[in-house]
This record gives sequence, structure tokens and C-alpha cells, in this order.
Amino acid sequence: MKKHLKAAEGYEGFELGPIRPPSEAASLMLRVTRNCPWNKCKFCGLYRGEPFSIRPVEHVIRDINQVRYYIDQIKETMQRPGDADHRQLSSLQMGLSPPEKMAFHSALNWVRSGMKSVFLQDANTLVIKPDDLVAILESLRLVFPRVERVTSYARSHSIARISDDDMARLAAAGLNRIHIGMESGADAVLDFIKKGIDKETHVVAGRKVKGAGIELSEYYMPGLGGKEYSSVNALQTAEAMNRIDPDFIRIRTLAIPAGVDLYRDVQMGIFTPLNDQQMAAELLLFLDNLAGITSVVKSDHILNLFQEVEGQLPDDLERITEPIRTFMTIDPSEQLLYLVGRRTGIFSRLADLDDRVLWKHAEKALLAHRVTWDNVEAWTAEMMQRFI
Ligand code: SF4
Repeated sequence: MKKHLKAAEGYEGFELGPIRPPSEAASLMLRVTRNCPWNKCKFCGLYRGEPFSIRPVEHVIRDINQVRYYIDQIKETMQRPGDADHRQLSSLQMGLSPPEKMAFHSALNWVRSGMKSVFLQDANTLVIKPDDLVAILESLRLVFPRVERVTSYARSHSIARISDDDMARLAAAGLNRIHIGMESGADAVLDFIKKGIDKETHVVAGRKVKGAGIELSEYYMPGLGGKEYSSVNALQTAEAMNRIDPDFIRIRTLAIPAGVDLYRDVQMGIFTPLNDQQMAAELLLFLDNLAGITSVVKSDHILNLFQEVEGQLPDDLERITEPIRTFMTIDPSEQLLYLVGRRTGIFSRLADLDDRVLWKHAEKALLAHRVTWDNVEAWTAEMMQRFI
């Protein structure tokens, strides 16, 4: 870790980072670092141009205490006789500064969601010193002893450098779920997209997390190898997953927003994106090559073509892959209708094609957008930009 990364600064109040995994919708967001210490992946523009910094431990602890303070106020208001209505809660916010309001709303949302889980932001909390992270986790546990789950994003690169003893200390202090963006297990793909890591390090890091008894989510990104490396991407990633056996394998379809390096590669003809049919074929190849593991497969990203590709391996494999196989064999006109319905939010799963009302809506959308097999790729790319 570079020493200069630690920000020398005064406390400027509660902070909130830009993103969280979909599965953390009910969690309290606690910002431990700002932005991404790597910031070079070609497909990612999330933190581009934003400098990375580590928040001082005492600032994060002040955030925790602030949330506790507002939670106590909110709970007291809610327990008062009469109605804890919107007006009463609004009055608690009067005179608060913007960061204090942010802390208040974080507290309110968390109370309403049951206060069971916390997500540590931003892109790679595991880059900080284990002692510092342990101090934050212990403080969190002291202030909120009933929290059941503490989750963080992490880069395999950072985890591979942490000793097994320190991983065990982090687990004992309460860190019990880690999300790693493996994206691909193919070295050629990892190298091309500048992930800054190779397959072996992904495997070492994943096993280290599991060895510490921390629940592990690994993300796979179908399409990241483009047409050139589609099969390699599927097969090598499946092989890496088989060696790790993560608790969760999460599918996150590649999207290429204008402005990221990969977009430029597409314009220059260096990278050829997959269309949705090719994406489906790659996903099927990946799933068919998962073996000897008990991971839960999740498809919880809005850009994924099939939301229903979910279940526990190995028993559910046939059910998980069935919609993809069906999609690949249905009439091309139905495939096109599904693609339009899915990308316009009318369909969420292939079985929605059997719903006559949704079918009619999708048909109208197809006509309104004038989508044909000739323009569907460009149209899909444009639609996906809206969700990024
Ligand atoms: S490590 Fe994650 S957040 Fe950082 S650039 Fe890569 S994908 Fe983006």
C-alpha cells in the first residue's frame, strides 16, 4: 500500500460512496475508502478521474457514531404515542448540514430495512491495513452488536497479499462476506482489459477468503473476451470457479459505456462485442463447465438477459441452464421479440413470452423502436447505455 494514499484531512462529515451490489439494498453504507486504488479496468468508468484515498479510521468511526445518534432519535420518535408520521421525522432534519442529512437518511433507511447488514465502500476496502479494518469492524460491532452481515468489495490482488492470520482476524472482527470482481479467469482476457491480475492470483485470493470462513461472491462477466476470446473466457473462468468453489457466482453482463477505454477499442476495431445470442451461448458454455462445486448462481443485474438463471449447484444446473437452451432454439422472430421485451423492461424472464399481455406490449415496443435483425445490435447497445 502506498503511504501517500492516506488522506491528511479534517473530518468533513458523513460520506456516502456511489455504488453497492444489488444484494446490499437493505444495508447501511459505510465509506472506508474513496474510489478505486486500481482504476484501470478498460470496461469500467465508475471512478475514472477520481483520486483514491483512505479515510482515517477515526473518521469512519465518527460516521458510525453519527448513524447511531440519528437511529436513537428516529427510534424514539417512532415509539412516541400518537403517529410517528412524516412530519415528526422531517422535523428531526431541520437545521442539519448536507452531510448530517445524508447520515440521517442513511439511518432512517437502515431502520426501515431492519438494521441487519452493513456494506463497506468503495471499490476495495481490503487495501487498507488489516489493523485499521479490524479497528473499524470492532467499533461497528460495539455500536451495532446485532448486525449479522458485514460485506465489502475487494480486489484479488489485495487479498492475496493479506496473511492467513490477518484474514482470520478480519473474519473474527465481523467481516463475513466479500465480493470479488473476477470478471474473467482467462489470462488473455484479464491482460487485455487491464484487470491487473492473473487467474492464479484470483484462485489464491478466492481460496484465502473461503479458508478464513468468509462468504465469497465472485463475479463473472460474459462477453468480456469479445468474439475473439468468448470460448476461452467461458472455459477458463469456469475452471477458476471450480478451483475456488465460491459461495456465490454472480453474472454481470458486459456493458460498454461511451468514454471507457473498451469503447475506444470497439471504435478502433480492436474489440468485437458479442451480440445477445452469442452472449447467451457463452453463458451456457460457462455454466455447462462448472463441475464439482456447490456455489449458488445468481443473476441479479439489470443488464442480464435472463434473470431466472439462478439456483444451487450441482442439483439445479439443468433448471438454471434450461431458459438459455430454450432461447437458443426458439424461432428467431420470438428471440427478437424477447430481446426487445427484455431490453425495454417488459420481460424479465423467458417464460414471460407465454404471457399474452406482455407479449402484446413487447410487440408494440418492437414496432415502435423499429427493431429488426439488421439493427438489433446497435439498438441493444443504445438501450443498455440507459441502464449504466
Ligand atoms: S477494480 Fe473494480 S472499480 Fe476498480 S477499475 Fe476495476 S472494475 Fe472498476
